[in-house]
Parts: sequence; C-alpha cells; structure tokens
Amino acid sequence: MTPYVLLSKKVADEIRLARQVRLPKETGGFLIGLRRGPHIEITDLTHQGTGDYASHTSFERRDPRHRKKILASWRASGSTESLVGDWHSHPCGAPEPSATDRKAWKTLAQAVGRPVIGVIEAASSTPGVFLAVRRGIRFGVRLEMVEEGQDYFLFAEGR
Ligand SMILES: [Zn+2]
Repeated sequence: MTPYVLLSKKVADEIRLARQVRLPKETGGFLIGLRRGPHIEITDLTHQGTGDYASHTSFERRDPRHRKKILASWRASGSTESLVGDWHSHPCGAPEPSATDRKAWKTLAQAVGRPVIGVIEAASSTPGVFLAVRRGIRFGVRLEMVEEGQDYFLFAEGR
C-alpha cells in the first residue's frame, strides 16, 4: 500500500520559521505523530535546544529535551503519538538530502524499527519530505505534495 504522509500546517509553519530564525546556521529536531498502518500523520515537533550542535552545514540533536518531549507526547496521547522522523533546515540550496542525511535516516529507521520521515526545509515553498525505510530500493524516496487542505499538506510517492 502506498504510504501517505499528512503534515499539519502548524508544524510546517514552525519549521519554516525556525529555519529563518536560525539562519545562517542549520537547525532541526524530531517529528512526532501518529501511525495508521503505513500512513503517518505529523502532528508535532521538537526544536533546537541549548545542548544541540548547529553549524552552517550540519545539525546534531544532542539535547535531552528532544527525548523528553517525545516521551511526554507519548504519555499525554495515551501511547498513540510517538517519534515518526526528524527534520532539519538547509540554509542555502535545495531541499535534497546529503549522504550524511541519508545515513542519519537509516540509523533512525533502524532505532525506531519502522519507516521514518525526513523533512528538509530549504528556501522552496514546500519542504522536502522523504520516506526512509530500513532497507530496500525505496530508501530515502522523495514524496510529492498531492493535496493541500486548510490545515494540512498531504504527501505521497509519485507515479
Ligand atoms: Zn541536510
């Protein structure tokens, strides 16, 4: 079944703003959401903390507050919302993943034991949304925006 990824505009707006605020350095965090079968709804996110490392070309999630917020969301939602991926910004250039980005998604997918979503925010109007599975030829495939609602973007694999 083709996985659909629903990205709330609230989350998309927060990511876009965070990129602008942190320029010219990168920023990032984790994505929190719901899974229904192969489908993922991104409902919340974590932001850069003081313990994270950010440079012009890299971002490393080291602050323990990322994990704390994910755990708090999981508890508050009755164990339905959990870690579904990560996001980071590219201060310049396209929302295309680097070799480092792909490697990090692979590690995250292995840690979670499920496919994860990687979101890259660049200067383009919509973020780059990528599906990362643990193995297989579809690893790191870019999803296309197929529908825009009042408060969401819907992404799916192109044909
Ligand atoms: Zn990157």
